[in-house]
Amino acid sequence: MKTATLAAVPLFAIAVAAFGFAPLAAAQQTPIPLTGSNQPPPQDIDYPGTLKIHVDASDIGRRTFNVHETIPVKPGASIYLLYPAWIPGNYSPSGPIDKVAGLVIKAHGQTIPWTRDKYNVFAFHVDVPAGADSLDVQFQFLSAQDRDQGPIIMTPEMLDLSWNKVSLYPAGYDANRIKTIPSVTLPSGWKFGSALEVASTDGDTTTFKPIDYMNLVDSPIYAGKYFKRLDLTSKNSPPVHVDIVADEPKDLEASDEAVQALKNIVVQMDRLYGAFHFDHYDFLFSLSDKLSGKGLEHHRSSEDGVGPDFFTEWNLTTPHDLLTHEFNHSWNGKYRRPADLSTPNFNVPMGDSLLWVYEGQTQFWGNVVAVRAGLENKDTGLALLAQVAARYDMDRPGFRSWRNIQDTTNDPTIAQRAPLPWRNYQGSEDYYAAGQLIWLAVDGKMRSLSHNRHSLDDFARAFFGIHPGAWDVNTYTFEDVVAGLDKIVPYDWASFLRERLDGHGNLAEALKLEGWQLVYKNEQSKAVKAVMASFKKRFPKYAAGADFTYSVGFSGSGKGELRDVRWNSPAYKAGLSPGMTIVAVNGTEFSADGMKQAIKDAKGSDQPIKLLVKNFNEYKTLDIDYHDGLKYPDIERIKGTPDYLSQLYAAKK
Ligand SMILES: [Zn+2]
Repeated sequence: MKTATLAAVPLFAIAVAAFGFAPLAAAQQTPIPLTGSNQPPPQDIDYPGTLKIHVDASDIGRRTFNVHETIPVKPGASIYLLYPAWIPGNYSPSGPIDKVAGLVIKAHGQTIPWTRDKYNVFAFHVDVPAGADSLDVQFQFLSAQDRDQGPIIMTPEMLDLSWNKVSLYPAGYDANRIKTIPSVTLPSGWKFGSALEVASTDGDTTTFKPIDYMNLVDSPIYAGKYFKRLDLTSKNSPPVHVDIVADEPKDLEASDEAVQALKNIVVQMDRLYGAFHFDHYDFLFSLSDKLSGKGLEHHRSSEDGVGPDFFTEWNLTTPHDLLTHEFNHSWNGKYRRPADLSTPNFNVPMGDSLLWVYEGQTQFWGNVVAVRAGLENKDTGLALLAQVAARYDMDRPGFRSWRNIQDTTNDPTIAQRAPLPWRNYQGSEDYYAAGQLIWLAVDGKMRSLSHNRHSLDDFARAFFGIHPGAWDVNTYTFEDVVAGLDKIVPYDWASFLRERLDGHGNLAEALKLEGWQLVYKNEQSKAVKAVMASFKKRFPKYAAGADFTYSVGFSGSGKGELRDVRWNSPAYKAGLSPGMTIVAVNGTEFSADGMKQAIKDAKGSDQPIKLLVKNFNEYKTLDIDYHDGLKYPDIERIKGTPDYLSQLYAAKK
């Protein structure tokens, strides 16, 4: 998973440093069975019969999916039908059941009653009439009309169909033991991409080959009015394609350079892992201002949603790690999966304790391979790394005081990806970016211990690149990861990892193991400026027009509207808070340049920076007592040490 906001905002958000400790226990590793309800637990036996699931996705005007399912049942049985709750890639009970309406269940043409379980809103109890051997289930999935109701998944030009949203399935069976025959009706003339294999086509309706329910949910469809399919297959790989849908036909035009970079992803992943765990793979790629952005992994496909200008404004200073990140999950997350995340169906709670491997190492390779494949300049990759390092040096003070990285693996369930009031202090799914730094530290340590004979590349190949062609699920535990590292370079990896996951040290130190260090300069480097500019273009709502995170400790719009204030920073101590607006700086109307000048002027002076601040309808003056000048993160070489980082980011031959 990698949402637009998750991927981008933390890199450029704010904060301060608070120091302290309070060790937290590692998260629970054992899956907990369903509690408080009467549904039978899933069993590893075949469901008798095949579910037929038809989705009419042609009502794009009302953004409604109409579902019709035929479910074979035992006459007279008392059964539960489940709506998927725990969604892979979300790691929380986030199935959008609030958008299910119009549920009608019939047997022999007669409507029969259903009741929702008292303790589990995702479970519907049905008494099957004697003599009925199948149920007709109908409902609508009312997709968001407005972004504050959830992601937009239907527009006049495209749609994103996820089967977990548009189906119920029977309780009591492992999801991979329930056979289905899915079919879909699309708006007339639209084309689609999916990992599903076509059995037959009748007008606008496509019926797919039978597939088990586990893999059906893992095989979404992207369909669109404007569609293009590019072949990215490499010499050694099974077929790999990118299926592109766009707001306008012109957005589909990709330069030779961009297409080559996409092809390089497959080549570089092959050189990294030496094996593929799919028989075919499709990047489902939306280029849109209307459809919500997305990054969601699947075994044989991924959902990748970016803005419309991906190809038309192609340049190597834009962060481009979405496709490499999601593709990497086919190895780490889908084929090899944390044992506590590998659940038998979609209503057994997931254990998230190893997300720092699943997401953390994927964040690491997503960024590295983006540079290796030529989707980003090396300078861009390093500028992004500097931002991540600075975050854990200064901008996540919670990790020096009340929390640790391991505890953030609970965040998908705690916060359900909702916006947070003090994100820098609360922490939020830091197993992604902090995980990236932890794996960077492992790479550096492996190289120095082995005199640069081994690196994390060797671990990746040995741990994730096994059994070419296999695409069942092969689980791993913490102990497996440690043993896998030890096999490449013997060392006390358990302590090395736990220290970083459970402790409160500075994760930015990882750079030093690679021969580089984090520095703060009074001006942004050229590479950082270019990254910021492209970020601002892609996420105008989130980009900071005024970013003083690492100096006084706030960021916000160019009009002084504060979005983030680093906890315990000089700005925080002066009384500033997200939600306030700075009206004036030292008696002059607020501007980013004016604020910059005020910080420069305060350096070496004992006078505070005077702010006029608006909070609701109240105005007040606040003084920031700060005299250390402007500070922007960057990284530079430590002279006289080996430059492992440049070797890590170099394309593999
Ligand atoms: Zn991910």
